[in-house]
Order: sequence, then C-alpha cells, then structure tokens
Amino acid sequence: VRFELLGRDGGARLGKWVTPHGEVRTPALLPVIHPGQQVIPAREMHDKFGVQMVITNSYITWRNPALRERALKQTIRGLIDFPGPVMTDSSTFQMYFYGKELEVDNATIVSFQRDIGSTVGTILDIFATPDMTESEVGQAVDTTLHRAREAQPHKGEMGLALPVQGGTFPALRERCARAMAGMDAAMHPIGGVVPLMEQQRYADLVHVIAASQRGLPAGRPVHLFGAGHPLVFPIAALLGCDLFDSASYSKFAQDGRMILPDGTAILDELEELPCACPVCSATTARELRALPTSEREAQLARHNLHVSVAELRRVREAIRAGRLWELVEQRCRAHPALLDALRSLDAHAGWLERREPLSKPSALFYTGSETLARPDVQRLRARLLERYRSPCEAAMVVEHAPRPFGRTLGGKWAHARAHGVQLLVKTPFAAIPVELDEVYPVAQSHEPRLWDRDAGKGFTRFLDAMLAAHGWKLVTEEEVAALPAKEGPRLDDARVRATLDVQFGRGAAEALLRAPVRFRKSATTGRVRNVFSEGEHILSLRASDGYASLKLAGARRLHAELPPPRLRVVVDADSAPFQREGRNAFAKFVRAVDDELRPGDECLLVDDADRILACGRLALNGDEAASFRHGVAVDVREGVVSRGSADEDGEGLQPV
Ligand SMILES: [Zn+2]
Repeated sequence: VRFELLGRDGGARLGKWVTPHGEVRTPALLPVIHPGQQVIPAREMHDKFGVQMVITNSYITWRNPALRERALKQTIRGLIDFPGPVMTDSSTFQMYFYGKELEVDNATIVSFQRDIGSTVGTILDIFATPDMTESEVGQAVDTTLHRAREAQPHKGEMGLALPVQGGTFPALRERCARAMAGMDAAMHPIGGVVPLMEQQRYADLVHVIAASQRGLPAGRPVHLFGAGHPLVFPIAALLGCDLFDSASYSKFAQDGRMILPDGTAILDELEELPCACPVCSATTARELRALPTSEREAQLARHNLHVSVAELRRVREAIRAGRLWELVEQRCRAHPALLDALRSLDAHAGWLERREPLSKPSALFYTGSETLARPDVQRLRARLLERYRSPCEAAMVVEHAPRPFGRTLGGKWAHARAHGVQLLVKTPFAAIPVELDEVYPVAQSHEPRLWDRDAGKGFTRFLDAMLAAHGWKLVTEEEVAALPAKEGPRLDDARVRATLDVQFGRGAAEALLRAPVRFRKSATTGRVRNVFSEGEHILSLRASDGYASLKLAGARRLHAELPPPRLRVVVDADSAPFQREGRNAFAKFVRAVDDELRPGDECLLVDDADRILACGRLALNGDEAASFRHGVAVDVREGVVSRGSADEDGEGLQPV
C-alpha cells in the first residue's frame, strides 16, 4: 500500500491510495457491508454508486461457520462479491455496542483477517467511551498499543489498520497516535468517536481528531471510524481525515429516515422528497411509504448512500477548487452543535496553518465572522505585521474600494506616498496596503457590503496593531487631500518590493532588487510579469496569485543573503545531482525543510553543505516531506546546471 498526495486545501488532502486490490481516491467513503446479508449488494455499490472500497466485519464472518468457510475459500472479497479493496474491522465495536468481552483474541482475529485476504485488517483495540476516567482510558490506550505490537508478526502481506484511541483526552490521543506512528501500518483509524457523534458533540469530535492528527504521521491515510452522517464529512476532511466508513445509510433506512446533506428527514413526515438522486427522482414520498417494508428500506438505503457518496464527491471537488472552507462554513450552519465545531477549529489554528497552501485556485469568501479565523486570513494579518515594510511615518484608511485597489486608488496612493503617508484599504480581512493589491487573498476575496459587529471590531483591533507595528500616525483622508501635489513613487516598484517581503520575509526585497531594476509587463493586463535586476531575470510574478516564481538568479541572491535554514529544503546526496539538473525532488529524498515554509511556497534546494542545487515550489510542508514515502515534495523550476524553462518569457510581453 502506498499513499500519495495529489491536491490539498485546509488540512484536507486529495490522495491516491494504491492497494494490492485497487486504487482509492481520497477522501473516500467505505460503506459498511454485512458479510452475510446486504441491503444493497456490494457489487451494485461498486458498479452503480462508484464506491471504491468497502468495510466488512471479520468477527461476524469468523463466528459464523458457513461464512467463515466461504471466506477462507473465496477470500472476503469473493464472499461479499466486491471487486475492489476490502477493509475488515475486528470486533472492537461489537464489544462496545454489546458491552461484553467476546470469545476471540487479538492474534486470532488478525490472523483470520490475513487468511481471508483482507486488503486492510484491524487489530482488536479497546474502545474507550466518553464516560471513562482518564486513568481507565490510559489503560485502554496501553492495551491497544500492546495489541498493535502483538499484531505485527501475524499480519503477513495484509495492510494493518492501527486505531488511535484515547477517549476525549487530547494528551492520551496524541500519545497513542505517536506510538502508533512508530509502527508498521497501512492507515490509522481514529476510534471511539461514535458516541460523540450520536450525542452531537461535534466540538469534542474536532478536538479528538486534531489531537490524534498531532501525533499521526502525515504520510498515511487517516480514517474516521464510524462517521455516519455526511454532515461531518466536510469538517472532518478539513482536519485531514481521508477515509470514512458508514453503516448509517442502512441504519437510518431501517428507521425510515432520509439522510440529507444538511440534516435528516423522516419519511413519514414528508409531503415531498427534497432530493434529486435516482431513487427520489423516480418516485414520490407517498409511493415510497406504500412499499413493502424490506423494499422501502432498500430504496431508502439507496437514497442514503447516494447522498453520502455525493457529499464526498462534493468534498473532493471543493478541495480541487480550493473551496473546502466555504463548504465547511455552509454545512456547519445546519446545526448549532456543528457551529460549535466550526468555532472550535480556532483552537487548532497552528496545525491547520502549517497545512494551508500559500494560495488557492479560487477566491476567499467572507461567509460570517468565523471566516476571520481562517488560516488564510490570520496568515495575511501576521505577515502584514511582521514581514511587510513601508517607508512611511503615517497612514490613512480608505473606507471601501473595488479590487484591484491599485487600479482605483493608484493616484491617491502616489500622492499620499509622496508625503510619507501609507494608504490602507478597509476590508474585514485586514487593513491592506494598496501595493499588496494583487497577492492572494487580497485580490482574490469578497466580503459583503454590510458588515457584522465582529468584522468591525476585528478591523479596529487590527488597525491599531498595524499602526503600532509600523510606527504610523493615523491621518485623515481630508488632511492628505489638502497636501500639495507632488510626484510620488511608482506603484509597480512598491508592489514588487512589498510582495517579495511579504512572501519571503523581511530583507528579501533588498536582497533581490539590486539596481538597476527593470520590469517586463503583460501587453494584455499591464501587470508586471518579469523582474530583471542588474540585467538578470530574477523572478516572475504569477498572474494567478500575484506571488513571485523565482528564477535561479533570484534564488542565488536569496541564498547568499538569507542564512540557513531560511527558505531551504535540504535533499539527500543521492538525489542532489538530479535537482542540479532541474528534476523534481521526491519526498523520500528530502532531509529537512525550513519550518516556516508552507505548501505552495517558493524554496531553495540545497545539499548537506548548504550548496544551492535548484529552486522550485514546495508541494508539502516539513512534517509531510518527512513522512511521505511517495510523490513529489518540490516541483523544481530550475537547477544550477539546467538551462531552465522558457515558461513565460517572450510572449505577450513588452519591455518597460
Ligand atoms: Zn434521494
């Protein structure tokens, strides 16, 4: 089994999980299948619902002599007739559910799962319930860890699922996860969360997932055990959960309940079916109610499964589009307990920020005051306070301006700058210097015209912090307007300078922009595309997010001026010759990554002795590069012995 990252948004990943029995694109739903009787046949799930992997119970199979014999003869995949990978669960959940010890031990059930050809088998872990004391849960964790070690010699070729337990105690969750991380495993379920979801303790669910993630290796799939309702898929995916299993589609059907993306409906209470799935499109609520019990249940189960798999398609598409946060914000307004979950993300801002890419393919929407806690916004604020530099002694605030700010405020900005006044635009995200108008998320964001109180208060607080950080005196628009006309600096110069400092940290603009500096602009948009200094092409500004793509000449300057580990990615000696030639750096050859670098950041590839090899764009953060065994860690743009790519040189550009 191997896991590779193909895309990302927030803490979520689009992954490719390759198993001996087929490939799974994550985040993915593994419907729970009963090994003996299936409401929806596993084959139909595969063929008609696009289900890539299912989970079934090895204990039920083991206990029933007929099923056991058939599973041993035809494998578990043959028994349930599923052509893709199949995960098996042990009896942990049955022990929790029926509250008793069962007659099977860990070594036996792991060996049995191996013998029936499970793609991934699960150890017999101890389910810690939310009412257990910390010391009881601690003991359960110790037993679970013991069983994880005990299972190793029995797993054979089968992938092992090593669950993280620890109840609602974050320290125990993290300890369990760290210990599991050191063992051989195909994936890590986060266990013991069903009672939290049943009691709608979604904020606790967020804390449990986050604590587990802090200890887990970034390079293995994480599975949220028993996450039944699609309402939790988006926020759990945002927290890095890659796999979900669910029996809810059939359990809800038994109770006459319909799963919807934003809640649950009771069939008996419906006049109309609020759904467009194939089942609901072909019938009415009245007809559905009139069906014989077993048929109605099967149809409701199909509806429930359609809604569940569709929500995961929506999640994957949102990750691709960089819109997962917006989806989470929408879904979490479906219930106050989910709003608690959304607000609880704030407690894990640090972990989330490390995974959050530098920029996204789509704009950031203000959907409510929770948006202000997003890593994108917090990162922008932090960088304006810590990295941005302005030569001014005073600042004035413009109430509102259409984006890009430079186009509408360019004249005002130049006039103010000529008198040492920095022009800031008031947005709920931050007080934004006009010259940063093209970088993500400044240009790529939308807010309502009518602000809520939190946005207003947040802006005032942030403005105060900006004034203090930059030593600015606040002046009014009228005061500045009264000042005489005077020639100001060029907005393009200030824009490039501010962008480089905000992107790479203070000192970067100075290191890169040695006079004479020349720009080449796009003939169509008039925006700066290529930057030359002392006759060398040192960088280009991307049209997509306004940030710089380094050329090797620029990378060499940063390398000379900024001490290690800044912007560095250290690669193995075996890999170094390939990067020198301009080839991508694979995760398994990365030795170290500057802790300040984030996915999507520009980086300098160096060897052990800090000799520069290449420059490129980072795909993984440091934790991920250390953990992933497959996939590219850095997309290399130019190596020291490569000629570099022609990329955006030439076409549509005119010298300035
Ligand atoms: Zn439906």
